[in-house]
Amino acid sequence: MKHIDEFRDGALARQIAERIAAEADPARRYSFMEFCGGHTHAISRYGVLELLPENVRMIHGPGCPVCVLPIGRIDLAIGLALQQRAILCTYGDTMRVPASEQLSLLKAKARGGDIRMVYSAADALQLAQQNPDREVVFFAIGFETTTPPTALVIRDAQRLGLRNFSVLCCHVLTPSAITHILQSPEVRQYGTVPIDGFIGPAHVSIVIGSAPYAHFAEEYRKPVVIAGFEPLDVLQAILMLVRQVNQGRAEVENEFTRAVTAHGNQAAQALVAQVFELRPSFEWRGLGEVPYSALKIRPAYAEFDAERRFGLDYRSVPDHKACECGAILRGVKKPTDCKIFGNVCTPENPIGSCMVSSEGACAAHYTYGRFRDIPLVPAAAEALPA
Ligand code: SF4
Repeated sequence: MKHIDEFRDGALARQIAERIAAEADPARRYSFMEFCGGHTHAISRYGVLELLPENVRMIHGPGCPVCVLPIGRIDLAIGLALQQRAILCTYGDTMRVPASEQLSLLKAKARGGDIRMVYSAADALQLAQQNPDREVVFFAIGFETTTPPTALVIRDAQRLGLRNFSVLCCHVLTPSAITHILQSPEVRQYGTVPIDGFIGPAHVSIVIGSAPYAHFAEEYRKPVVIAGFEPLDVLQAILMLVRQVNQGRAEVENEFTRAVTAHGNQAAQALVAQVFELRPSFEWRGLGEVPYSALKIRPAYAEFDAERRFGLDYRSVPDHKACECGAILRGVKKPTDCKIFGNVCTPENPIGSCMVSSEGACAAHYTYGRFRDIPLVPAAAEALPA
């Protein structure tokens, strides 16, 4: 298949890996963060880590949409379905993210909530048109990639004069999260998360372009290479990062030129700016409150804002005490550092959000076999609620 097969060529992958090994200075370590869960998935799926020399390491970042959703936001969505009796629509992976009281949207559905999985924001709008006597709420999550379709349905709902449709907006922003990581004590103060550069996201960058990353290169002296999701894309990006580090450069480079431009999709950006504005602060799972890191619906579209329509009050809820998702999302720990990884917490029974989606670091490690040496830990199992 064009644009896929040629980027999965094993012989070429080994050649790039050999170049990385040849050019990486054996006297130093290289630590790069792949921000995006799509890259985390690709790295695990194709065994990219096994191809890298010992002194070139990857750190998983927080760019998995369902992983960063805090429990309090899922609780709001469940409340809309169970207490407000709304039809609650959302994307598939969101259904299984653990919430308070051992619930998830899927379990709330089993308790009678009218919760429906949709493939697009447009499906939710259609449901509202088909059910004029019911409130229909679209639980909108994700980074810049999924934001334009949400903006579009809000604008369409206004144009159509729909009175029963609203959006629980939980869209978050990539550049603010990267800034937050770079300013975290683990990176700046303690050096426990040494980051020499970033692999920039693929799909997000199609929308926002490569220009927004210039700040990290200039201000924080961190190289960024935007890469596609195929194994050769990732390996080539790592080689480009090694070269930047070796040459003392900190620039934004674009490996994914077949899809990403400097300024991205400006029509999509204009649509998003028309419908959304910045939230002063938003809680991320693992990162805590991150200033100006998420979007809310502008007053001109207030009638479609589920938070205003239902008078919702956000309440922060701590993660399960055995779960290390927070530390994993900050790059401080690896999935295998969690005591319940692969024994109590599995994709069939996720205890934390990183085990839910294929883009989550724990799910990616588990699915591609990095769990086989994990023993059952009875103490950890006993720590869980019955
Ligand atoms: S293995 Fe499960 S509980 Fe542990 S950090 Fe990952 S998602 Fe959280």
